[in-house]
Amino acid sequence: MALVGGNVADLAGKAPLLDAVVLVEGERIKAIGPRATTPVPTDATVVPMQGKWLIPGLMNMHVHLALNLPGAARIYGETADSMALRTLDNAQKSLLSGVTTIRLTGSDAGVDFTVKRAIDSGMFAGPRIHTAGSSIVATGGHGKTEVNGAAEFAKAVREQIKAGATWIKLGISGGISDTHGDIGASPFTDDELKTAIEVAHRNGVKVTGHSGSPIATDVAIDAGIDCIEHGYFLTPDVLRKMKAKGVWYVPTIVVSQSGARAFYKKIGSPDWYLARVDSVGKAHIGVLRTAITTGVNIALGTDQYPWEPNEGTTATVREAEIYVDAGMTPAQALRAATIEPARMLGVDSEVGLLKPGYYADIVAVDSDPTRAIGALRTIGFVMKGGKIVRNDAAAVPTAN
Ligand SMILES: [Zn+2]
Repeated sequence: MALVGGNVADLAGKAPLLDAVVLVEGERIKAIGPRATTPVPTDATVVPMQGKWLIPGLMNMHVHLALNLPGAARIYGETADSMALRTLDNAQKSLLSGVTTIRLTGSDAGVDFTVKRAIDSGMFAGPRIHTAGSSIVATGGHGKTEVNGAAEFAKAVREQIKAGATWIKLGISGGISDTHGDIGASPFTDDELKTAIEVAHRNGVKVTGHSGSPIATDVAIDAGIDCIEHGYFLTPDVLRKMKAKGVWYVPTIVVSQSGARAFYKKIGSPDWYLARVDSVGKAHIGVLRTAITTGVNIALGTDQYPWEPNEGTTATVREAEIYVDAGMTPAQALRAATIEPARMLGVDSEVGLLKPGYYADIVAVDSDPTRAIGALRTIGFVMKGGKIVRNDAAAVPTAN
C-alpha cells in the first residue's frame, strides 16, 4: 500500500517532508521519501493523501477502559462479562479517535488481559495495549487490590505479572475522589514500597505510582519507581529529583481542568467533587508548568477515555493542547503524544515515529501539528499496523 502526496511532519520541529510517499508492506513502513524519488510499485494500492499531514499514531499512557466513577451514571453490580464488552467498545473508539497505543493503569477482573489478547490475535480492531492489570495498594488506598506488608505486596505484584501485566501500578497516595485519607500522605511503609518495586524490576517490569503527594513521590523515587501519574501537588524539589533520576511524569491534566466539567456533570458528580476538582486544578497546572521548565520526561495520559469529548475535541487531543498552553512547543507536545510514550514503554524502535521498519501506525490531519497543535482536532485517517481503520475522505457520502 502507498500513501501518496501527503506531508510528513517532523517531530523534531524541523522542515517537514512535503509531497511524500509512504510505502507500507504488511504491518510495517517500508520506505518514506519525496514522491519524485520514491517509486510506487505498480501493484500497490494507492491511497491519496494530498493536503494531509501524516504523523505517528497517538499514544495515551493513562487509560481505564472500563471507567466507573461515582455519580448518577455509575454502573452498580457490573459483571466481568459486561465490563469486558465495555472495555472492548472503548478500545475500538480509542483507536478510531487516532490513538494506536494505550497503557492501562488499573483494570478489574482481568478483562484488560482478555481484551488485549483478542485485539492482538486480530479478532477485533483496537489499539496496542500495555497493561498494569489491577492497581495495587495498601488497605484503604486508591486502588482495587488491597494488600499489607512486604510479603503480600510481593505476591500481588507477581500475580499481576503472571496474569500478563507489563507494568505495575501502585496507588502510593490518595485520590481526588476518595472520601477518606489524605491526598498528601504517604501510606506505604518503606518495606512495602521497596519490595513491590524490586519484585517488579526483577521481572523486567516497570512500576508507576498514582500520586498527588510530594512526600509519597519523594520516597517512591528513592525506592526506584519509574513513573508518576497526576502529581497534583508535586513541589519543584520533587520535580527536580524526578528529572535527575529520569522518572517519567504522566500529567493527566485534563481531569482537573475546565474541559472535564461537562464530563463530571454528565456522570452526575456531586458538588463537593466538582469543588475539589477546581481547587486541585489550580495546583495541578502549576506542577505541569514547572515540570516542563524543569525538563522532566513527560508522556501524555488522560485518565479519561482517550476519545472522551472535551472542549470540542477528544481528551487525548485536549491534553496535548494544554501541554502547549503550559509551555511546551507544539512539536514537544506531539512528541509527548508519540515517541516519548514509546520511549517510556521501551518500544521506541517499533512505534512512535514514521520511519522504515516501524509499525505503520499512522494518523493524518489537515495541517502541520508541529506549527499549531490544534491540527490534531482534524484527525480524519487512522492506520494501525498497515490496516486502515478510518478514512473520512474515502467514506461513502450518505444520502439525505
Ligand atoms: Zn487513573
